[in-house]
Amino acid sequence: MKRPILIHPDPRLKKICAPVPDLTDELRDLARDMLETMYDAPGIGLAAPQVGVLSRLIVLDCVKEEGVTPRPTVMFNPEIVAVSDEMSTYEEGCLSIPEQYGEVTRPAEVQVRWIDEKGGEQQAGFDGLWATCVQHEIDHLNGKLFIDYLTPMKRQIITRRMQKLKREMARA
Ligand SMILES: [Zn+2]
Repeated sequence: MKRPILIHPDPRLKKICAPVPDLTDELRDLARDMLETMYDAPGIGLAAPQVGVLSRLIVLDCVKEEGVTPRPTVMFNPEIVAVSDEMSTYEEGCLSIPEQYGEVTRPAEVQVRWIDEKGGEQQAGFDGLWATCVQHEIDHLNGKLFIDYLTPMKRQIITRRMQKLKREMARA
């Protein structure tokens, strides 16, 4: 089941999310709904606070090429355990900030530890778009958006555009 995505500015997008103590059916359903919502948007990552749930859960799939097998990835309590010195810059966007983009510089490679949807502990290294995406999604769990990396001027312009969009959506 698809869930509505919160649009910035929203106080729930600024909160520190709580760790998931135990995997429940409800949380597995949420993860499945989040993947469906993400693919439908379409996007390459989604964090639980973006659908109004303040728990440490993200989903991602950065396989974008046609004909390549999708790699739906569910991460409960994801944690970055190591980052590379090398940095990389990507033009980022966000499903909670539609059609707005900005360049963000982050570590080019990260090691991430998480709990998968079966409750197993996983650890893996990510680079390229996956590295950017997983860092962007984990930021969401700490109330941080990609626009927080931009200049105050650029952030304000984007926030005003989103306030206008939300007013229009409320009227529609
Ligand atoms: Zn985002």
